[in-house]
Amino acid sequence: MALFGVHLRSIPNGSQIARVIRTVEPDEIYNLAAQSHVAVSFGQPEYTGNVDGLGTTRLPESIRDSNIDTRFYQAGTSEMFGASPPSQNEDTSFHPRSPYAAAELYAHWIVANHREAYGMFAVNGILFNHESQRRGETFVIRKITRAVAAILAGRQEHLYLGNLDALRDWGYARDYIVAMWMMLQQDKPTDYVIGTGEAHSVRDFCEEAFGLVDLDWEDFVRIDKAYYRPTEVEHLHADPSRAARNLGWKATTTSRTRFLMVESDLKDRGMGLDLARSKAASGQALNES
Ligand code: GDP
Repeated sequence: MALFGVHLRSIPNGSQIARVIRTVEPDEIYNLAAQSHVAVSFGQPEYTGNVDGLGTTRLPESIRDSNIDTRFYQAGTSEMFGASPPSQNEDTSFHPRSPYAAAELYAHWIVANHREAYGMFAVNGILFNHESQRRGETFVIRKITRAVAAILAGRQEHLYLGNLDALRDWGYARDYIVAMWMMLQQDKPTDYVIGTGEAHSVRDFCEEAFGLVDLDWEDFVRIDKAYYRPTEVEHLHADPSRAARNLGWKATTTSRTRFLMVESDLKDRGMGLDLARSKAASGQALNES
């Protein structure tokens, strides 16, 4: 089976995409290319709109032009729900609260329209936050897990964060990749919400991540208003029952994700959990910065 993943740099170039599709004749295409950082999108709204909105349009259009019978997956986001009250499922109305979410909403409807207008096997996965050891360093979960390790290594004194009250439905990325694949193996194309069904605040996560190495998060976390967003998404909480019913999909990992990420960032600093805890207990590294 030929698969085709799309790279962020190729998305502004429709003719190049069409050429690759005609050459590779992929059975399935997964579009994960996006400027996906919400805070960045406030500073770069045009770029975000071009890549995430118009860029996505170039894919189903290229498929249509090439006449290749391929299935198309679009990586959508729970950010599109924005201010809509939880829990959110496929029937919840959208209320985007950032240029990123607005651009993704455009992409969402372009994909749905290609399904309806041309009978294309095109689906939107509406994925809630998913994390892993590979998560970008400026997303809040990774920022926190890296900070725990850096503080214990004596490289960082404090962790500056924005809104600690925001609630998110955080899952483990590996589970979400399986859901994406499952969506393209169905008889009929339809959109799916993918999440754990649990929501936690940024504050909860700080407590848990620092707690794993026996530190009190309040000794280290400081608020910097620069990390507040002009409009915030307060509460995202998935109702993934369609995915459970139709795909048999369920998140396998919730809090374990956070554990794995803390452990991985400690390892990058040459520490296992035991060493990290004994450093925390002795206060040794904490005084070295
Ligand atoms: P998002 O849900 O796609 O915006 O994922 P993020 O990991 O970027 O942010 C999750 C939540 O954490 C949002 O509500 C942010 O406002 C909040 N948050 C609080 N402090 C920070 C911070 O320092 N960096 C980021 N990225 N988010 C923060």
